[in-house]
Amino acid sequence: PKTTLDQVISLAKRRGFVFQAGEIYGGSRSAWDYGPLGVELKDNIKTQWWNTFVRGREDMVGLDSSIILPTPVWNASGHVATFTDPLVECTSCHRRHRQDHLIEGFEKKKGRAPEGGPDGMDEIVCPDCGTRGAWTEPQNFSGLMKTFLGPVDNEEGLHYLRPETAQGIFVNFLNVVNASRRKPPFGIGQIGKAFRNEITPGNFIFRTREFEQMEIEYFTHPEAAKEHFETWVEACWEWFTDLGINPENMRRFDVPDGERAHYSEATIDLEYKFGFAGAEWGELMGIANRTDFDLNSHTEGSGTKMQYFDQNSAERYTPYVIEPSFGLTRSMMAFLVDAYREEEAPNAKGGTDVRTVLGLDPRLAPVKAAVLPLSRKEELVPTAKRLADELRGVWNIDYDDAGAIGRRYRRQDEIGTPFCITVDFDSLEDQAVTIRERDSMSQERVPLQKVRGWLFERLAK
Ligand code: ATP
Repeated sequence: PKTTLDQVISLAKRRGFVFQAGEIYGGSRSAWDYGPLGVELKDNIKTQWWNTFVRGREDMVGLDSSIILPTPVWNASGHVATFTDPLVECTSCHRRHRQDHLIEGFEKKKGRAPEGGPDGMDEIVCPDCGTRGAWTEPQNFSGLMKTFLGPVDNEEGLHYLRPETAQGIFVNFLNVVNASRRKPPFGIGQIGKAFRNEITPGNFIFRTREFEQMEIEYFTHPEAAKEHFETWVEACWEWFTDLGINPENMRRFDVPDGERAHYSEATIDLEYKFGFAGAEWGELMGIANRTDFDLNSHTEGSGTKMQYFDQNSAERYTPYVIEPSFGLTRSMMAFLVDAYREEEAPNAKGGTDVRTVLGLDPRLAPVKAAVLPLSRKEELVPTAKRLADELRGVWNIDYDDAGAIGRRYRRQDEIGTPFCITVDFDSLEDQAVTIRERDSMSQERVPLQKVRGWLFERLAK
């Protein structure tokens, strides 16, 4: 039987949320394209995030830094030296996997570590061919994506595509402090692409080589770091649940010593129940206490003191950094999976059938309303088109006049459109339309002139 995840992936393709990159050439597991609905959904997630965490807070500002930064940035940050992962190859099918992911998967499934210590691979079965314990010794490989700038492909031209947006924020710390006259505690938020040479991309858009992040670096006095860390974990949790994620499908994972990134003193991952075949849960985002690691590293690397001088207390210090790091594309996947449902619904013949609904929060829904003339008869079309055009100035609006009205409702339910507006023959008499709400399927008669205001009340949150 198809899992929810399978259904979501097939819906995503069929309706134009996500396509495989380069599909006509055989496609790629490591990159995906966002179709007409996907780009809207992704943009709505970004807007919600930016409004909540950047515009909505007096202690936050935004930034948009480069993807390719001077190479010394990545030397100082530790990425060139330590952004490596242990790679093992199955000696039976010769597929490669990240050793830490295999061990993590085993632990999640069995509830215990594999025998033979933390690196014990004897019990671990190859996800591709099912052979057990047939692994080569681990080898480290770099997750950094390389490119060459300038005319010659040599060391001099070697540059890295950023594996996280964070470093662009750190190197601009003083610029932002001076230009916007900020003092800790304050944060800088950024949304943008990041690139990692993942050895096992897959699980749809969960792990890709090119992806988008939404990151916050929150600068605080070292003594207040712990408290801010806890507050941020809750703020992130709330952002997802407020936008409709079922809290039962989310959990916190306190990443233990030895498993955290080189810069982190404490990390809590928010995990989501994606429902993968091997392990059900996957990391959705992480909140880390990066201490003063990055600002110190860049002070050392650049010779510029990345510190803050507090004039009130006459104290000079290097702020600690709390980093909530969201995957935008991973969040989109969680929103899709969480919103997907199939349910019995009454049909036109007085019976019931199964309808598919994406119960997306209206703030995230890619299409806010669909205008549907009851029939293609000439007299209804101009009124319906005029209404659609009027609303288009404000929202992403669909217009659909093909097929039975019931089927058109179902098409909108399936992509999460919160409101369907039907123009019928009475509309010509009473200058009113029927608006149907997606979840309750309740209908309300609304005067044409009031449709915009009616929607505004329900969509502008
Ligand atoms: P993983 O253990 O899954 O590789 P990570 O712990 O290395 O992830 P971070 O470095 O903490 O991930 O990155 C922060 C966030 O960026 C992740 O929680 C995730 O949402 C997103 N992210 C990281 N790598 C990818 C990827 N390859 N594809 C899509 N999103 C990613």
